[in-house]
Amino acid sequence: MTLDPITLLSMTVALAAAAGLYLAVEWRNVREPSLLYWCAGFSTIAIGSTLALLRSSGFLFIGIWFANGLLIAAHGLFLMGVARFTQTHLSRAWCLIVPLWTVLLALPAGPLWSALMLASNSALVALLSLRASYLLRPHGVSLSVGAVQLRFVMLGHGAFYLAKALSAVMPGALIDLAAFKGQIIQISLIEGVVAIMLIALSMIGTERHRREKRIARLAARDPLTSLYNRRALEVRAPQLLASASREAPGALLLIDIDHFKQVNDLHGHNAGDHLLVALSEIIRTHLPQGAVAARLGGDEFVILLKHASIDGIVELSGALRTHFQQIAQQQFPTPDAATLSVGATFFDQPPASLAALIEQGDAALYESKRGGRDSLRLKDWTTRAPGEPKKHAVTEAIQ
Ligand code: GH3
Ligand code: MG
Repeated sequence: MTLDPITLLSMTVALAAAAGLYLAVEWRNVREPSLLYWCAGFSTIAIGSTLALLRSSGFLFIGIWFANGLLIAAHGLFLMGVARFTQTHLSRAWCLIVPLWTVLLALPAGPLWSALMLASNSALVALLSLRASYLLRPHGVSLSVGAVQLRFVMLGHGAFYLAKALSAVMPGALIDLAAFKGQIIQISLIEGVVAIMLIALSMIGTERHRREKRIARLAARDPLTSLYNRRALEVRAPQLLASASREAPGALLLIDIDHFKQVNDLHGHNAGDHLLVALSEIIRTHLPQGAVAARLGGDEFVILLKHASIDGIVELSGALRTHFQQIAQQQFPTPDAATLSVGATFFDQPPASLAALIEQGDAALYESKRGGRDSLRLKDWTTRAPGEPKKHAVTEAIQ
C-alpha cells in the first residue's frame, strides 16, 4: 500500500473519527466542556476529510471549498476548547473568519485559484492554531504535561500551516487541489495524519491530569471541613516526625469538642456540621508555617507542629479555645458549654510512629476530659541535656 493522497485522507478520516469518539467517551466521564469542543473539532475533520475524497469524483465545490472550510471550523473548535480549558474569553472578532471564507467563493477560476485557496485556508488554520498555542502559554498557573505538550504541538502545527501559506504563493509552486498534485499538498496530508495523533493525545492528557489531581485532592480531604483526613495525615506525617530534634522539637495536638452531642441534639445535625466547619476555619487561620492539620473523624482534630515550643503550644491552644468558645456560645448555646479539650505531646526525637504519638496525645486528652474539660494537658517527652532521662510527665492543666 502506497501513501497516495486517497490512502492518507482515509487514514485522516479514521484517526479523526477515533480521536473524536475517544474524547466523547472522556467527556461522558468528566463533563468538561473543552473535551466536547475538541470532540466536535475532530468529528468535523472526519467529515471534512471524507468530503475531500469527493474531489476525485469531480465534486470540486464540496470537495475543496466546503471541505477546507470544515478544516478551518475544526481549528476554530479546537481554539474554543482551549479557551474553555484556560478559562479565557475569546473575542467575537474571530467570527469574521466565516464571511472571509465565503468571499473566497468569488475568486475567479484559473491557474491561480488553487494557490490562493490553499494560501487563505492555511493562513486561517495557522492563525487559529497559533492563537490556541498562545492561550496555553504559562501565565502564573502551573500547566499539566498534557497542556504543555498541546501548546507546542499547536505551535508546530500553526508554524507548519504558516509556512504552507507562504509557500503556496511562491512563484512556481505546483498546486493542484482538484487532483491532490504538488509537493506542498503531499507533505500537508502526511502532517495532517501526524498532527491528529499528537493533538488528540495532548488533549486527552490535559483533562486527564486535571481529573487525577481532583481525585487525589478528594481522596486526601475530609469532605465536610476540607482539612486533610487521617489517610492524608499518615502520608505527610513521617517526614515531619523524622525531622524532630533537640534544636527543632515537634508537637502533636489532639483536639476534641466538649459536649458536642448537645449541639447536635439541641440545634440539629446541620448546626453541628456548621460548628465543625467553624473549628476547621479557626485551625486553618492559626496554623503555623510548616504545620499540618487534619480531622481524624467525628469531633476530633489533630495538629502536627514543626519547630514547636511549650510557649507556642500553650499560645496556639489558647487561641483555638478562645475563638471556638466565642463562636459556639454565640451561635449554638448549650446547657454545658461547647468548648475544646486539647491533649498535646512535645518531643525532640522522632517518635516510633504516628499511631504511637496519637496514643500519647489521646492519653493527654483523656486527662483533660477527666479534669473537667476546656483545658490543655501537655506531655513533655523532651530530654533537657545529653544523657538526661526523658521526662514522661503530664503537665498541670493549662486553663
Ligand atoms: P465529650 O465532651 O466527652 O467529647 O462528648 P461529646 O458530646 O463531644 O461527644 P463525643 O466526642 O463522645 O462524640 C462526638 C459526637 O459527634 C458523636 C456524633 O454524634 C457527633 N458527630 C460525629 N461526626 C459528626 C459530623 O460529621 N457531624 C455532626 N453534626 N456530628 C457528628
Ligand atoms: Mg467531643
